[in-house]
Amino acid sequence: MKLVLASKNKGKLRELQAMLRDTPVEVLLESQVGIDLEVEETGTTFEENSRLKAMAVMQASGLPAIADDSGLVVDALDGAPGVYSARYGGLDSDAARTAYLLKNMEQVPDDRRTARFVSVITACFPDGREIQVRGECEGIITREVRGDGGFGYDPIFLVPSLGQTFGELPAEEKNQISHRAKALERFTEQLNKELQYADK
Ligand code: IMP
Repeated sequence: MKLVLASKNKGKLRELQAMLRDTPVEVLLESQVGIDLEVEETGTTFEENSRLKAMAVMQASGLPAIADDSGLVVDALDGAPGVYSARYGGLDSDAARTAYLLKNMEQVPDDRRTARFVSVITACFPDGREIQVRGECEGIITREVRGDGGFGYDPIFLVPSLGQTFGELPAEEKNQISHRAKALERFTEQLNKELQYADK
């Protein structure tokens, strides 16, 4: 099954393509189907924004489309940066946003630095069907940047059971436990059910 991926975020693209390698899903990039959309994320939830992106690309291409809307939810910041993770503080680089978040967390004690990454994956099909799933991964915000792997907030997100940040973990290990991996696992389960149903 071919799905057009509604995203230009290189980190996300890399992960989604790697994780979907052994599934029935073949990912096509927007550029491969001749579209280049800038979808405004006007929703206030991951679910709304994920659907907005998948729907826009499905309508523009006429093909099934898949989108991930994701972000970092920090308890001590009342859920910020949340759906605004990609534009937190109005800053334009991962390094600047990460530094800004650490600064805002300076006074937060060690036992209150809990956070989670959230990924909501939506697929929209031209016949009106939709699949939407959510994955979450719990962690702790560090006090300094650790590791240079991954993207976004990875270097300040510690996985307590491993004692390493997402930025320190090899990509294959992050891709087994991340929010996106959990959402994708649920997604492929549901897609397989839909495909079986369609065969009947
Ligand atoms: P979106 O493209 O609107 O979904 O924005 C997602 C933003 O959330 C990214 O730009 C990152 O800042 C952050 N984010 C999402 N997933 C991850 C991840 O796996 N690691 C680090 N940051 C992430």
